Amino acid sequence: MKIIPYGKQSITEADIAAVTEALQADFLTGGPRIAAFEEAFAGYIGARYAVAVANGTAALHLSAMALGVGPGHRVLTTPMTFSASANCVRYCGGEIDFADIDPATGLLDFTAVRNLVESFPPGYYQGIIPVDYAGYPVDMEPFRALADEHDLWLLEDACHAPGASYVDSKGQKQRSGNGAFADLAIFSFHPVKHIACGEGGMITTNRKDLYEKLLLLRNHGLERDPAKIPNYDGGWSYDLQELGYNYRLTDIQAALGLSQLQRAEENLARRRAIAARYDAAFAAGPVRPLGSSEGHAFHLYVILAEARKALYEYLRSKGIFAQVHYIPVHTLSYYHLSLPEVWNVPLSEAHYAQCLSLPMYPTLTEEEQDYVIEAIRAFYS
Ligand SMILES: *Cc1c(COP(=O)(O)O)cnc(C)c1O
Repeated sequence: MKIIPYGKQSITEADIAAVTEALQADFLTGGPRIAAFEEAFAGYIGARYAVAVANGTAALHLSAMALGVGPGHRVLTTPMTFSASANCVRYCGGEIDFADIDPATGLLDFTAVRNLVESFPPGYYQGIIPVDYAGYPVDMEPFRALADEHDLWLLEDACHAPGASYVDSKGQKQRSGNGAFADLAIFSFHPVKHIACGEGGMITTNRKDLYEKLLLLRNHGLERDPAKIPNYDGGWSYDLQELGYNYRLTDIQAALGLSQLQRAEENLARRRAIAARYDAAFAAGPVRPLGSSEGHAFHLYVILAEARKALYEYLRSKGIFAQVHYIPVHTLSYYHLSLPEVWNVPLSEAHYAQCLSLPMYPTLTEEEQDYVIEAIRAFYS
């Protein structure tokens, strides 16, 4: 039986040629393909700076470090995300709180966040991590206003949303992760995401101070600028002024990312066309598509389904490997058992009870999609 997964990379001859070329070049890491990928990605997203890193989780960790997260800090995020969105705060010794979602979109609910922030004394929270769940672009503008009012930073987890956009209050189109409102945004190049590097990640920002800090932290914290080295002793000198990590991307991965980026818009259009076909098929049931927007990037196509578990099992028996995104982070043992907080997020739990991500990737054919749609209809008839 043919397996239809929920997400899948596509590798072309051009991708293979780009990687082969990188393998034959002088630098396998730390070479020119990193800077080329960063520049092209920043251009695509519309951000001033981009920093390529080893994966999306490393991007989150370095972002939390650059934003100064430490013991005693409290940060708000959504339970409807991959656990890495929350873990990055814990890596730095900070505490995570969860605010509930808007059930229409699955996104962190701005009003719930504002109510939480305003129910505590000033300085209780240090930052917010909104997530562009499924590829639905978070409107970052109100979050910015709230952040400015309460002296908070904003880190956008845009792993699902390269190429997504929304329109701000001035009628300007804003791309997710472009740095217009958030201090930092992060992306992942895991093969199920829009752009595949095998493993890979990117941080985008318009802030030069954060950009320079991220460059240091990505490479152990090594300072090589003679002017900034106290005991400069010659060309070999470097200094360590901050404790960073080796979170570098390789040139081999950057070559693949750069090549994949050339097809980003084409693949995004294909994802939107697949979503429109699902929308039309389910307009009158038997399942309910999660709300979407014009600038949605459709990393996932999420439906809300009655008898979700039985549907999941039925689809698997037909070779359709739909997936559940996500088990709410606050219910995972690490958060549930090790932290004393009790989080009041019933809408996230209700969403989890019904959500299912259907196959969604650019190379999914119309025949395969029709097979998925027919299987869902057959299950409910
Ligand atoms: C994939 C993903 C991550 C982590 O990215 P990796 O590259 O797998 O480390 C973080 N947040 C979200 C929302 C993701 O989907």
